[in-house]
Amino acid sequence: MPGTPLLKKPTSEDLDLLSEISQMLTLIDREQLLERVIELTAEAFGAERASLMLNPDIPEDWEQILIKYRRGSGGIERMDQSQSVRFARRVMQTGLAGWVARARAGAVIADTRNDSRWVTFNDSTSSARSVLCVPFQTANALIGVLTLLHSEPGYFADSDLQTLTIIANQTTVALHNATLFGRMRHKERQLEAILSAMPDSLIVLAHDGQVLRANHIAAGWLDLPTDALVGMSIDELVRRESLLELVRDVGRSPLQAGQSWSFETHSESRGRDYLLNISVWQSSVDGSGGYVVVIRDITTLRDLNRFKDEMLHIASHDLRSPLALITGYCSLIEFEITEGSPIKEYLEAIEKASNRMQRLLDDLLRVEKIRTSPMEMVESVYFEQLIAAALNQMRPQFDAKHQQIEVHVDIDSTFAIHVNAVTIREAMENYLENASKYTPKGGRIRVYSAVEGRRVNFVVEDTGIGIPPSAFPRVFEAFYRVPRPDTEDLAAGRGLGLHLVKAVIERHKGEVWLESEPGAGSKFGFWLPAN
Ligand code: ADP
Repeated sequence: MPGTPLLKKPTSEDLDLLSEISQMLTLIDREQLLERVIELTAEAFGAERASLMLNPDIPEDWEQILIKYRRGSGGIERMDQSQSVRFARRVMQTGLAGWVARARAGAVIADTRNDSRWVTFNDSTSSARSVLCVPFQTANALIGVLTLLHSEPGYFADSDLQTLTIIANQTTVALHNATLFGRMRHKERQLEAILSAMPDSLIVLAHDGQVLRANHIAAGWLDLPTDALVGMSIDELVRRESLLELVRDVGRSPLQAGQSWSFETHSESRGRDYLLNISVWQSSVDGSGGYVVVIRDITTLRDLNRFKDEMLHIASHDLRSPLALITGYCSLIEFEITEGSPIKEYLEAIEKASNRMQRLLDDLLRVEKIRTSPMEMVESVYFEQLIAAALNQMRPQFDAKHQQIEVHVDIDSTFAIHVNAVTIREAMENYLENASKYTPKGGRIRVYSAVEGRRVNFVVEDTGIGIPPSAFPRVFEAFYRVPRPDTEDLAAGRGLGLHLVKAVIERHKGEVWLESEPGAGSKFGFWLPAN
């Protein structure tokens, strides 16, 4: 019956209250939980008003809610946000709730008129004579302060404070859980929004190949509702889309955190090109893990690339004849002009420019040839001898710059590899030439090579000017040169050398890589399959 305190004196009704409290503790909605705490405690202790001040995540700033309970008025009533913030700040600075928060202990006031901790702010605080006030706290944080008020002096007893403290302690745990749960839900929604905003298909798999989560692009791509996709096995996915066999193959290897694979592949059935990125994820909580698969449609990109190659092909072929014509006529004119004529100088300029253009076209044609020709002239060669030949070729350049060269080749002299020896040697020379070109006089160049597992590595390390990380993704592109206004003259080039190395190495199913620190030096490497 409202108005009748249930717990004026500790009785067996305590148990009923505690059982109600424990039920309340299962609530995971924070707001609902808070309202229940106020209602239940106010009713149980027969309070006329109750208020709860909450400490938000940032300590010191009590700007969260103040919920008021007024018996007889139908329960919870919320103050508007700015009013509650102002009130809460004042109470926490000068009032009893502030005292409780600082003391980290509950308080019972028998008569507010004889207690200096009670400061009146408005009608309700001035009409209160008895007060019960407890903190909600964890080991290292104060979460809130609950205050129960009554207009009769001596209404609350010390035993009430004890009971309310027990309730507060229990509630704190639930409040903490509800807050964590709320944050988790918030993060989950955020993740959901990110996944549905991304333009690529995303599928998260457990290690056994079961789908744990997928975005709607992936579901649409597989022509399935998202819910149906979750829980499916990788085998079922492969039956729907053979492209995912790559994922199944990768999934058969043991998990290694941080690993990732990228494949460019073509789907015959869809007539489109895709970039498949597979990375390993591992939970730090229970060590479980699996794979995150991102599938990007790169058809347009590939079409553009093909278009670019075609244009380069046309340009390089079609420019050759007019260029030959220009140089031919230049030679003819040279015969016709008289000694000392200023035209001679003009002709030389034209010839110089034409020769530069000729070299550029030759390079372009070479890149194209390497990329498109079948792997002709593959022979079994001793890898160590290839390195020795490349080093011999480059030695005059190192000597000219007084560069010291250290060679660490840990390869058996009988170790042979099936490659196009000429192009691989050129690739090595390119690395060596760059190392010398971009390293000052007297610098040091180290060459490493070793067989590791089923790969043979070749690395050239220098102590030169280095490359800024922002340029890493581009240095192997055709015509790319790291912009350096101060050293441009020192190292004239066309930006095709590394592109040629990449084309050659990828043609041999190997990979190129680079590490560098501006000002300290660079490390360029490649590996080739050893068999
Ligand atoms: P080029 O040397 O003809 O400009 P490359 O394709 O060989 O063309 O190299 C591309 C760019 O990468 C170069 O312009 C240079 O800026 C940078 N680079 C290559 N090798 C090195 C190196 N060892 N040290 C510093 N920068 C380098």
